[in-house]
Amino acid sequence: MPRKPLISGNWKMNLTHLEAIQVMQKLSYQLTTQDYEDVDVSVHPPFTGLRTVQLVLDTDRIPIALGAQNCHWEEKGAFTGEVSPGMLQKLNCTYVIVGHSERRELFGETDSVVRKKMESVVGHAMTPILCVGETLEEREAGTTEAKVAGQIEAALTGRPPAEVAAMVVAYEPIWAIGTGRTATPADAQATCGLIRSTVRALFNDAVADALRIQYGGSVKGSNAAELMAQPDIDGALVGGASLDPDEFARIVQFRLAG
Ligand code: PEP
Repeated sequence: MPRKPLISGNWKMNLTHLEAIQVMQKLSYQLTTQDYEDVDVSVHPPFTGLRTVQLVLDTDRIPIALGAQNCHWEEKGAFTGEVSPGMLQKLNCTYVIVGHSERRELFGETDSVVRKKMESVVGHAMTPILCVGETLEEREAGTTEAKVAGQIEAALTGRPPAEVAAMVVAYEPIWAIGTGRTATPADAQATCGLIRSTVRALFNDAVADALRIQYGGSVKGSNAAELMAQPDIDGALVGGASLDPDEFARIVQFRLAG
C-alpha cells in the first residue's frame, strides 16, 4: 500500500485565534477535493487557536486535520500551564507533535519525557508526530546516524508494532529549521531511509513500510516536490511557510509543481 503523504503546518507561537480564522479560510479556498484525496493535511495552531480552528473546520466541512504542537503526559492535576492529551482529544485533535527540537532544546525535554508524551497521545487515540534530528555540530562530527537512530530507539523500542505502524516520524535537521537552509533531497532521503531501516530492525517489514516519515526544515513551495519525490519521504512538517496560506497551499500541491 503506498503511503499517503501528510503535510503538516506547525504554526509555533504565531497567530491569534482571530488571525487563525483568516488563515484557515484563505487556505481552504485554495485546496481542492483532489488535493485532499492525494494528501493528508494538518494544521497545528497554538493552544489558544485550537477551538476556533476546530469550529472553522467543522462549520465549513474542511477535511484538514487538527493537531497540537505539544502536550503533557498526565491526564489532569497540579501542572500549572500544561494541557493534557485528554483535553486535546476532546477538541478532536488528530495529531500531536511530540519532541520538536525547540521543545527539546529550549524546554529541556529528554528522550524519556518525549516517550511518555508519545505513549499518552496514543493512549488518547491521537497520532503522535515524533520529531527527531541532529544539530549542526553533530552533522559536522559525523554523528547524525547515531543521534537519529538513538532517538528512534529511545522512543519506539518495545512499543506495540501496530501503534508504531500508524504513527508519524518527522526528521528535522535542527540546522535547517527556520534558517532557510534545507537539507539536500539526497541528505534528507539518506536520514529518512536510516529511520525506516532502524524501525525495520526494531520491528518488521510491515511496520517499517507503513510508517510515515516527514521531512522538516525550511520546506517551501519551491523545494517541496523534489523532497517529496524521495522514496522514504512521505510528507513535510512545515514551520514558517505554513503561516502564509498561499505558500502552504503550494506545498500541499507539490505534485502540480514544474
Ligand atoms: C519546524 O519548526 O518544524 C520547521 C520545520 O520550521 P521551518 O519550516 O520554519 O524550518
